[in-house]
Amino acid sequence: MQKLIYLDNAATTKTASEVVNEMLPYFTENYGNPSSIYSIGATAKEAVTKVRERIASSLGAKNNEIYFTGGGSESDNWALIATAQTYEAKGKHIITSKIEHHAVLHTCSYLEKQGYEITYVDVDENGIVKLDELEKAIRPDTVLISVMFANNEIGTIQPIKEIGAIAKAHGVLFHTDAVQAYAHVPIDVDEMNIDMLSASGHKFHGPKGIGFLYIRTGIKIRSFIHGGQQERGRRAGTENVTGIVGMGKAVELSFLRMEESAAKQRELRDYLIKRIKEEVPHCRLNGDGVRRLPNNVNYSFQFIEGESLLIMLDMKGICASSGSACTSGSLDPSHVLLAIGLPHEIAHGSLRLTVSEENTIEEMDAVIDAIKEIVDKLRKMSPLYEDFIKKQKK
Ligand SMILES: *Cc1c(COP(=O)(O)O)cnc(C)c1O
Repeated sequence: MQKLIYLDNAATTKTASEVVNEMLPYFTENYGNPSSIYSIGATAKEAVTKVRERIASSLGAKNNEIYFTGGGSESDNWALIATAQTYEAKGKHIITSKIEHHAVLHTCSYLEKQGYEITYVDVDENGIVKLDELEKAIRPDTVLISVMFANNEIGTIQPIKEIGAIAKAHGVLFHTDAVQAYAHVPIDVDEMNIDMLSASGHKFHGPKGIGFLYIRTGIKIRSFIHGGQQERGRRAGTENVTGIVGMGKAVELSFLRMEESAAKQRELRDYLIKRIKEEVPHCRLNGDGVRRLPNNVNYSFQFIEGESLLIMLDMKGICASSGSACTSGSLDPSHVLLAIGLPHEIAHGSLRLTVSEENTIEEMDAVIDAIKEIVDKLRKMSPLYEDFIKKQKK
Protein backbone atom coordinates (compact mmCIF):
# COMPACT_ATOMS: atom_id res chain seq x y z
CA MET A 1 0.00 0.00 0.00
CA GLN A 2 1.07 3.52 -0.84
CA LYS A 3 2.18 5.57 2.17
CA LEU A 4 -0.26 8.34 3.00
CA ILE A 5 1.00 11.93 3.14
CA TYR A 6 -1.46 13.86 5.27
CA LEU A 7 -1.47 17.61 4.58
CA ASP A 8 -4.97 18.57 5.68
CA ASN A 9 -4.46 19.39 9.35
CA ALA A 10 -6.76 22.42 9.13
CA ALA A 11 -9.63 20.02 8.35
CA THR A 12 -8.78 17.68 11.18
CA THR A 13 -5.75 16.18 12.89
CA LYS A 14 -4.72 12.66 13.81
CA THR A 15 -5.71 11.86 17.39
CA ALA A 16 -2.42 11.49 19.31
CA SER A 17 -1.82 7.99 20.72
CA GLU A 18 -1.26 9.49 24.20
CA VAL A 19 -4.72 11.05 23.86
CA VAL A 20 -6.33 7.72 22.97
CA ASN A 21 -4.56 5.99 25.89
CA GLU A 22 -5.75 8.66 28.28
CA MET A 23 -9.34 8.19 27.09
CA LEU A 24 -9.55 4.38 27.24
CA PRO A 25 -10.07 3.90 31.03
CA TYR A 26 -13.03 6.28 30.84
CA PHE A 27 -14.76 3.84 28.49
CA THR A 28 -13.85 0.66 30.35
CA GLU A 29 -13.56 1.41 34.08
CA ASN A 30 -14.42 4.99 34.95
CA TYR A 31 -17.59 5.09 32.89
CA GLY A 32 -19.67 6.68 35.65
CA ASN A 33 -21.87 9.71 35.14
CA PRO A 34 -20.10 12.74 36.65
CA SER A 35 -23.39 13.76 38.27
CA SER A 36 -23.60 10.50 40.28
CA ILE A 37 -22.36 10.32 43.86
CA TYR A 38 -20.68 6.87 43.89
CA SER A 39 -16.97 6.65 43.31
CA ILE A 40 -16.76 5.92 39.56
CA GLY A 41 -18.98 8.95 39.02
CA ALA A 42 -16.74 11.03 41.25
CA THR A 43 -13.66 9.86 39.35
CA ALA A 44 -15.20 11.03 36.10
CA LYS A 45 -16.21 14.32 37.65
CA GLU A 46 -12.70 14.86 38.97
CA ALA A 47 -11.24 14.21 35.51
CA VAL A 48 -13.61 16.75 33.94
CA THR A 49 -12.70 19.34 36.59
CA LYS A 50 -8.97 18.86 35.95
CA VAL A 51 -9.40 19.46 32.22
CA ARG A 52 -11.46 22.57 32.89
CA GLU A 53 -8.65 23.92 35.08
CA ARG A 54 -6.02 23.08 32.50
CA ILE A 55 -7.91 24.85 29.70
CA ALA A 56 -8.67 27.89 31.88
CA SER A 57 -5.02 28.32 32.82
CA SER A 58 -3.92 27.94 29.18
CA LEU A 59 -5.97 31.06 28.35
CA GLY A 60 -5.44 33.10 31.50
CA ALA A 61 -9.11 32.47 32.34
CA LYS A 62 -11.00 31.25 35.43
CA ASN A 63 -12.24 27.65 35.75
CA ASN A 64 -15.90 28.65 35.78
CA GLU A 65 -15.51 30.54 32.49
CA ILE A 66 -14.94 27.32 30.47
CA TYR A 67 -18.01 25.50 29.09
CA PHE A 68 -17.60 22.17 27.31
CA THR A 69 -19.51 21.87 24.03
CA GLY A 70 -19.83 19.46 21.11
CA GLY A 71 -17.11 21.29 19.13
CA GLY A 72 -16.28 24.48 17.27
CA SER A 73 -19.56 24.80 15.38
CA GLU A 74 -21.66 24.49 18.52
CA SER A 75 -19.50 27.03 20.35
CA ASP A 76 -19.86 29.52 17.49
CA ASN A 77 -23.63 28.96 17.29
CA TRP A 78 -24.01 29.42 21.02
CA ALA A 79 -21.90 32.58 21.19
CA LEU A 80 -23.71 34.30 18.32
CA ILE A 81 -27.31 33.19 18.78
CA ALA A 82 -27.40 33.45 22.56
CA THR A 83 -25.70 36.87 22.58
CA ALA A 84 -28.12 38.16 19.96
CA GLN A 85 -31.13 36.90 21.91
CA THR A 86 -29.92 37.95 25.34
CA TYR A 87 -28.96 41.52 24.43
CA GLU A 88 -31.94 42.23 22.14
CA ALA A 89 -33.09 45.11 24.31
CA LYS A 90 -29.81 46.96 23.61
CA GLY A 91 -29.91 46.30 19.88
CA LYS A 92 -30.01 43.77 17.08
CA HIS A 93 -26.78 44.56 15.22
CA ILE A 94 -23.72 42.29 14.95
CA ILE A 95 -20.40 42.90 13.19
CA THR A 96 -18.34 40.09 11.68
CA SER A 97 -15.89 39.65 8.79
CA LYS A 98 -16.29 38.36 5.24
CA ILE A 99 -13.82 35.53 5.78
CA GLU A 100 -15.33 33.71 8.78
CA HIS A 101 -15.87 29.97 8.87
CA HIS A 102 -19.36 28.86 7.79
CA ALA A 103 -20.12 28.01 11.44
CA VAL A 104 -20.18 31.79 11.97
CA LEU A 105 -21.38 32.97 8.53
CA HIS A 106 -24.32 30.56 8.27
CA THR A 107 -25.30 31.35 11.87
CA CYS A 108 -25.30 35.02 10.83
CA SER A 109 -27.61 34.30 7.88
CA TYR A 110 -29.90 32.43 10.27
CA LEU A 111 -29.95 35.49 12.56
CA GLU A 112 -30.66 37.79 9.60
CA LYS A 113 -33.77 35.73 8.87
CA GLN A 114 -34.78 36.25 12.51
CA GLY A 115 -34.64 40.02 12.08
CA TYR A 116 -31.10 40.78 13.23
CA GLU A 117 -28.78 42.96 11.17
CA ILE A 118 -25.24 41.86 10.34
CA THR A 119 -22.36 43.96 8.96
CA TYR A 120 -19.68 41.95 7.15
CA VAL A 121 -16.42 43.89 7.32
CA ASP A 122 -13.92 43.71 4.42
CA VAL A 123 -10.40 42.34 4.58
CA ASP A 124 -7.31 43.57 2.72
CA GLU A 125 -5.56 41.60 -0.04
CA ASN A 126 -3.74 39.49 2.56
CA GLY A 127 -6.93 38.69 4.46
CA ILE A 128 -6.45 41.06 7.41
CA VAL A 129 -9.65 42.67 8.71
CA LYS A 130 -9.79 46.43 8.03
CA LEU A 131 -9.77 47.93 11.50
CA ASP A 132 -10.94 51.39 10.46
CA GLU A 133 -13.94 49.86 8.68
CA LEU A 134 -14.65 47.67 11.70
CA GLU A 135 -14.67 50.63 14.06
CA LYS A 136 -16.82 52.72 11.70
CA ALA A 137 -19.37 49.90 11.57
CA ILE A 138 -20.08 50.15 15.31
CA ARG A 139 -23.48 51.69 16.08
CA PRO A 140 -25.42 52.35 19.29
CA ASP A 141 -27.37 49.12 18.69
CA THR A 142 -24.28 46.93 18.07
CA VAL A 143 -24.11 44.13 20.64
CA LEU A 144 -21.35 41.88 19.33
CA ILE A 145 -18.20 41.80 17.21
CA SER A 146 -17.21 38.31 16.06
CA VAL A 147 -13.89 37.99 14.22
CA MET A 148 -11.95 34.76 13.86
CA PHE A 149 -8.49 34.47 15.44
CA ALA A 150 -6.91 32.75 12.43
CA ASN A 151 -8.40 31.82 9.09
CA ASN A 152 -8.82 28.13 8.23
CA GLU A 153 -8.18 28.56 4.49
CA ILE A 154 -5.35 31.06 4.15
CA GLY A 155 -3.95 30.95 7.70
CA THR A 156 -4.07 34.71 8.26
CA ILE A 157 -3.83 35.70 11.94
CA GLN A 158 -6.01 38.71 12.78
CA PRO A 159 -4.97 41.69 14.96
CA ILE A 160 -7.08 40.25 17.80
CA LYS A 161 -5.70 42.49 20.55
CA GLU A 162 -6.52 45.61 18.51
CA ILE A 163 -10.03 44.35 17.74
CA GLY A 164 -10.53 43.55 21.43
CA ALA A 165 -9.45 47.07 22.34
CA ILE A 166 -11.89 48.62 19.83
CA ALA A 167 -14.75 46.48 21.14
CA LYS A 168 -13.95 47.38 24.73
CA ALA A 169 -13.69 51.11 23.99
CA HIS A 170 -17.20 51.03 22.50
CA GLY A 171 -18.73 48.75 25.13
CA VAL A 172 -19.42 45.98 22.61
CA LEU A 173 -18.87 42.27 23.35
CA PHE A 174 -16.10 40.50 21.41
CA HIS A 175 -16.23 36.84 20.36
CA THR A 176 -13.45 35.08 18.46
CA ASP A 177 -13.57 31.75 16.64
CA ALA A 178 -10.15 30.49 17.70
CA VAL A 179 -10.62 26.95 16.39
CA GLN A 180 -7.53 27.20 14.14
CA ALA A 181 -5.46 29.11 16.68
CA TYR A 182 -6.08 27.64 20.13
CA ALA A 183 -3.30 25.26 21.21
CA HIS A 184 -1.28 26.40 18.16
CA VAL A 185 -0.43 29.99 19.11
CA PRO A 186 -0.43 31.69 22.55
CA ILE A 187 -3.72 33.34 23.58
CA ASP A 188 -4.50 35.42 26.67
CA VAL A 189 -8.14 36.42 26.99
CA ASP A 190 -7.48 39.35 29.36
CA GLU A 191 -4.58 40.84 27.44
CA MET A 192 -6.57 40.55 24.19
CA ASN A 193 -9.92 41.69 25.65
CA ILE A 194 -11.67 38.55 24.43
CA ASP A 195 -15.14 38.06 25.94
CA MET A 196 -15.97 34.75 24.27
CA LEU A 197 -13.76 32.22 22.49
CA SER A 198 -14.55 29.02 20.55
CA ALA A 199 -12.17 26.07 20.29
CA SER A 200 -12.37 22.46 19.09
CA GLY A 201 -10.45 19.34 20.22
CA HIS A 202 -9.93 17.68 16.86
CA LYS A 203 -7.98 20.63 15.44
CA PHE A 204 -5.07 19.99 17.85
CA HIS A 205 -4.75 16.18 17.95
CA GLY A 206 -7.68 15.65 20.31
CA PRO A 207 -10.91 13.76 19.58
CA LYS A 208 -13.77 14.98 17.37
CA GLY A 209 -17.10 16.17 18.75
CA ILE A 210 -15.67 17.98 21.75
CA GLY A 211 -14.78 21.63 22.19
CA PHE A 212 -15.41 24.51 24.51
CA LEU A 213 -16.69 28.04 24.70
CA TYR A 214 -14.95 30.51 27.00
CA ILE A 215 -17.46 33.03 28.40
CA ARG A 216 -16.10 35.88 30.50
CA THR A 217 -17.61 36.21 33.99
CA GLY A 218 -20.47 38.68 34.00
CA ILE A 219 -21.71 37.89 30.48
CA LYS A 220 -25.16 36.54 31.02
CA ILE A 221 -25.86 34.89 27.67
CA ARG A 222 -28.63 32.29 27.58
CA SER A 223 -28.07 28.58 27.80
CA PHE A 224 -28.04 26.88 24.43
CA ILE A 225 -28.98 23.29 25.30
CA HIS A 226 -31.79 23.08 27.85
CA GLY A 227 -32.00 20.22 30.32
CA GLY A 228 -29.93 19.17 33.31
CA GLN A 229 -27.65 21.24 35.48
CA GLN A 230 -24.38 20.33 33.72
CA GLU A 231 -21.97 23.18 32.91
CA ARG A 232 -23.62 25.30 35.61
CA GLY A 233 -26.98 24.91 33.91
CA ARG A 234 -25.85 26.67 30.74
CA ARG A 235 -25.14 23.64 28.55
CA ALA A 236 -27.18 20.62 29.54
CA GLY A 237 -26.40 16.99 28.71
CA THR A 238 -24.25 14.33 30.36
CA GLU A 239 -20.64 15.39 29.91
CA ASN A 240 -18.68 13.78 27.06
CA VAL A 241 -16.19 12.52 29.63
CA THR A 242 -13.98 10.54 27.24
CA GLY A 243 -13.92 13.47 24.82
CA ILE A 244 -13.13 15.95 27.58
CA VAL A 245 -10.34 13.74 28.96
CA GLY A 246 -8.90 13.32 25.45
CA MET A 247 -9.08 17.03 24.72
CA GLY A 248 -7.39 17.70 28.08
CA LYS A 249 -4.47 15.46 27.17
CA ALA A 250 -4.22 17.13 23.76
CA VAL A 251 -4.13 20.55 25.46
CA GLU A 252 -1.36 19.35 27.78
CA LEU A 253 0.73 18.00 24.90
CA SER A 254 0.16 21.01 22.65
CA PHE A 255 1.16 23.56 25.28
CA LEU A 256 4.21 21.54 26.35
CA ARG A 257 5.61 21.54 22.82
CA MET A 258 3.97 24.59 21.30
CA GLU A 259 7.15 26.48 20.38
CA GLU A 260 9.05 23.45 19.20
CA SER A 261 6.13 22.18 17.17
CA ALA A 262 5.45 25.61 15.61
CA ALA A 263 9.12 25.92 14.64
CA LYS A 264 9.03 22.51 12.93
CA GLN A 265 5.82 23.39 11.09
CA ARG A 266 7.20 26.77 10.00
CA GLU A 267 10.23 25.06 8.54
CA LEU A 268 8.06 22.69 6.48
CA ARG A 269 5.67 25.50 5.51
CA ASP A 270 8.42 27.83 4.35
CA TYR A 271 10.13 25.04 2.42
CA LEU A 272 6.88 24.33 0.53
CA ILE A 273 6.21 28.02 -0.07
CA LYS A 274 9.72 28.69 -1.39
CA ARG A 275 10.03 25.68 -3.67
CA ILE A 276 6.56 26.00 -5.17
CA LYS A 277 7.14 29.69 -5.88
CA GLU A 278 10.49 28.91 -7.56
CA GLU A 279 9.50 25.78 -9.44
CA VAL A 280 5.87 26.16 -10.51
CA PRO A 281 5.23 29.04 -12.95
CA HIS A 282 2.07 31.21 -12.79
CA CYS A 283 1.24 30.64 -9.15
CA ARG A 284 0.30 32.98 -6.31
CA LEU A 285 0.62 32.57 -2.54
CA ASN A 286 -2.63 33.49 -0.77
CA GLY A 287 -2.67 35.01 2.71
CA ASP A 288 -0.23 37.10 4.70
CA GLY A 289 3.49 36.32 4.44
CA VAL A 290 4.17 37.04 8.11
CA ARG A 291 0.93 37.07 10.10
CA ARG A 292 0.25 33.46 9.22
CA LEU A 293 -0.40 30.18 11.06
CA PRO A 294 2.77 28.04 11.23
CA ASN A 295 1.06 25.18 9.38
CA ASN A 296 -0.65 26.89 6.44
CA VAL A 297 0.26 27.00 2.73
CA ASN A 298 -2.33 28.22 0.22
CA TYR A 299 -1.45 28.60 -3.47
CA SER A 300 -3.48 29.44 -6.56
CA PHE A 301 -2.29 27.96 -9.84
CA GLN A 302 -3.48 29.68 -12.98
CA PHE A 303 -5.20 27.68 -15.76
CA ILE A 304 -6.15 24.67 -13.63
CA GLU A 305 -9.05 23.44 -11.50
CA GLY A 306 -8.25 22.89 -7.83
CA GLU A 307 -10.59 19.90 -7.74
CA SER A 308 -8.71 18.06 -10.52
CA LEU A 309 -5.44 18.75 -8.73
CA LEU A 310 -6.87 17.33 -5.49
CA ILE A 311 -8.13 14.16 -7.13
CA MET A 312 -4.78 13.54 -8.81
CA LEU A 313 -2.91 14.20 -5.56
CA ASP A 314 -5.22 11.73 -3.84
CA MET A 315 -4.25 9.06 -6.42
CA LYS A 316 -0.69 9.55 -5.19
CA GLY A 317 -1.77 9.19 -1.54
CA ILE A 318 -1.56 12.92 -0.77
CA CYS A 319 -4.39 14.44 1.29
CA ALA A 320 -4.91 18.16 0.66
CA SER A 321 -7.78 20.59 0.28
CA SER A 322 -8.86 23.17 -2.29
CA GLY A 323 -10.29 26.64 -2.13
CA SER A 324 -13.39 25.80 -4.09
CA ALA A 325 -16.00 23.69 -2.42
CA CYS A 326 -17.18 21.36 -5.23
CA THR A 327 -16.79 18.36 -2.97
CA SER A 328 -19.23 19.87 -0.51
CA GLY A 329 -21.85 20.23 -3.24
CA SER A 330 -21.18 23.79 -4.33
CA LEU A 331 -19.40 25.06 -7.43
CA ASP A 332 -18.74 28.48 -5.95
CA PRO A 333 -15.12 29.37 -5.29
CA SER A 334 -14.15 30.02 -1.69
CA HIS A 335 -15.69 33.14 -0.12
CA VAL A 336 -12.32 33.76 1.55
CA LEU A 337 -10.39 33.84 -1.74
CA LEU A 338 -13.02 36.10 -3.32
CA ALA A 339 -12.86 38.41 -0.28
CA ILE A 340 -9.10 38.89 -0.73
CA GLY A 341 -9.83 39.94 -4.30
CA LEU A 342 -9.00 36.87 -6.39
CA PRO A 343 -10.91 36.61 -9.67
CA HIS A 344 -13.15 33.49 -9.88
CA GLU A 345 -10.92 31.62 -12.33
CA ILE A 346 -7.85 32.00 -10.12
CA ALA A 347 -9.74 31.19 -6.93
CA HIS A 348 -10.85 27.95 -8.62
CA GLY A 349 -7.26 26.82 -9.05
CA SER A 350 -6.37 26.86 -5.36
CA LEU A 351 -4.71 24.35 -3.12
CA ARG A 352 -4.41 24.34 0.67
CA LEU A 353 -1.67 22.30 2.34
CA THR A 354 -1.67 22.29 6.16
CA VAL A 355 1.24 20.47 7.80
CA SER A 356 1.74 19.01 11.28
CA GLU A 357 4.97 18.47 13.20
CA GLU A 358 4.81 14.81 12.16
CA ASN A 359 5.43 15.60 8.49
CA THR A 360 8.94 15.39 7.06
CA ILE A 361 11.03 17.25 4.47
CA GLU A 362 11.08 14.03 2.38
CA GLU A 363 7.28 14.15 2.27
CA MET A 364 7.45 17.81 1.18
CA ASP A 365 9.82 16.81 -1.64
CA ALA A 366 7.39 14.13 -2.80
CA VAL A 367 4.47 16.58 -2.68
CA ILE A 368 6.35 19.26 -4.63
CA ASP A 369 7.29 16.71 -7.32
CA ALA A 370 3.66 15.59 -7.51
CA ILE A 371 2.34 19.16 -7.77
CA LYS A 372 4.81 20.04 -10.54
CA GLU A 373 3.91 16.96 -12.55
CA ILE A 374 0.13 17.31 -12.09
CA VAL A 375 -0.02 21.08 -12.71
CA ASP A 376 1.98 20.58 -15.89
CA LYS A 377 -0.29 17.73 -17.04
CA LEU A 378 -3.49 19.69 -16.30
CA ARG A 379 -2.20 22.79 -18.06
CA LYS A 380 -1.38 20.76 -21.17
CA MET A 381 -5.08 19.82 -21.30
CA SER A 382 -6.29 23.39 -20.73
CA PRO A 383 -7.51 25.44 -23.72
CA LEU A 384 -7.00 28.62 -21.64
CA TYR A 385 -3.37 27.75 -21.13
CA GLU A 386 -2.97 26.97 -24.84
CA ASP A 387 -4.33 30.43 -25.73
CA PHE A 388 -2.06 32.04 -23.16
CA ILE A 389 1.03 30.33 -24.60
CA LYS A 390 0.06 31.27 -28.17
CA LYS A 391 -0.37 34.92 -27.18
CA GLN A 392 2.99 34.91 -25.43
CA LYS A 393 4.73 33.61 -28.56
CA LYS A 394 3.38 36.40 -30.76
C1 LIG B 1 -13.09 23.38 11.98
C2 LIG B 1 -13.54 24.75 12.25
C3 LIG B 1 -14.77 25.01 12.87
C4 LIG B 1 -15.75 23.92 13.21
O1 LIG B 1 -15.31 23.11 14.28
P1 LIG B 1 -15.96 21.68 14.51
O2 LIG B 1 -15.39 21.22 15.80
O3 LIG B 1 -15.58 20.83 13.36
O4 LIG B 1 -17.44 21.91 14.60
C5 LIG B 1 -15.11 26.32 13.14
N1 LIG B 1 -14.28 27.33 12.83
C6 LIG B 1 -13.10 27.13 12.26
C7 LIG B 1 -12.19 28.29 11.97
C8 LIG B 1 -12.67 25.84 11.94
O5 LIG B 1 -11.50 25.66 11.34
